[in-house]
Amino acid sequence: HSKKLGRNTYSLFTPDMGEGVSRRLLLEEQMRGGLGRDEFSLNYQPKIDLRNNRVTGVEALVRWENEELGKVSPDEFISVAEHSGLIVELGQFVIFEALRSMKAWADSGFEISVAINLSPRQFHDLNLIPFIKNTIQTFKVDPTLIELEITEGVLMSGHRFITDALQSLNEMGIKLAMDDFGTGFSSLSYLRKYSFDTLKIDRSFIADLMEDEEDRALVDAIISMAHSLGLDVVAEGVETIDQVDYLTLQGCEYAQGFLKGRPMTFNALTKSLEGERRLLAEPSVA
Ligand code: C2E
Ligand code: MG
Ligand code: MG
Ligand code: MG
Repeated sequence: HSKKLGRNTYSLFTPDMGEGVSRRLLLEEQMRGGLGRDEFSLNYQPKIDLRNNRVTGVEALVRWENEELGKVSPDEFISVAEHSGLIVELGQFVIFEALRSMKAWADSGFEISVAINLSPRQFHDLNLIPFIKNTIQTFKVDPTLIELEITEGVLMSGHRFITDALQSLNEMGIKLAMDDFGTGFSSLSYLRKYSFDTLKIDRSFIADLMEDEEDRALVDAIISMAHSLGLDVVAEGVETIDQVDYLTLQGCEYAQGFLKGRPMTFNALTKSLEGERRLLAEPSVA
């Protein structure tokens, strides 16, 4: 129908788009209130070390259950939070909660790393670094066990304040992971320019790994490239044993995915850590 799109067309604003706009406005309004009503919480998904099959860390993933809308997916509300600026307040909640959990785990003898997702917009907040510093002091957690996950979108602007922020985080001992690698520009220069510790291969490359020869070629190349740059590799979205076997053989260090553990509550994750500890304490039957 594009031929008919003339100068005076008003089809640019379709009823569909209108719905999209009001849905976003509704989400924004409910999110604003929801922050004060304790509607947000964190889930934690285990990250497995493929070399010993143990949980070495978790990724904190935010969840929202609204009184009117029910459960809303982060893929939907994070983008609204980004555009409205609400991500700053939400992001602080996530950092605070994640470090609070980390402290509780450390107190129970679980020295696991905690990965936190940061949106580009959060770097515009001058208070980001001081807030992270203060929260680390509040909970007295080991900064080297904190990993911040960012996507290339953060780096693309090349703004000075982003470079400075990453530098400060680095000096604090905090680790940096490139999230969703392979979906954006996947520029190697970013990996070289900023001091990343970890590269996370996007789950879209893992999904058809065993069926798709091209995906395997890409994954192999990403792993060896990451290793030659001194980065550890995490495969996202690992759902089958075949994928685990393949990735282990290729030297991929870590896997995250439904096979080894879904995102779960603090209590559920703690129980699973306790279960693992009991297993490891048992005298092995050789
Ligand atoms: P992400 O950082 O790439 O997180 C991984 C997503 O993959 C999570 O979706 C997780 O539930 C999902 N996933 C994990 N294993 C599997 C698997 O085996 N199969 C499949 N199909 N999916 C798997 P979730 O929790 O819906 O989060 C979606 C995205 O929302 C995240 O992608 C992240 O970009 C963003 N997000 C989540 N929490 C936060 C947060 O606290 N702050 C910010 N800024 N963004 C967040
Ligand atoms: Mg992530
Ligand atoms: Mg990811
Ligand atoms: Mg993602």
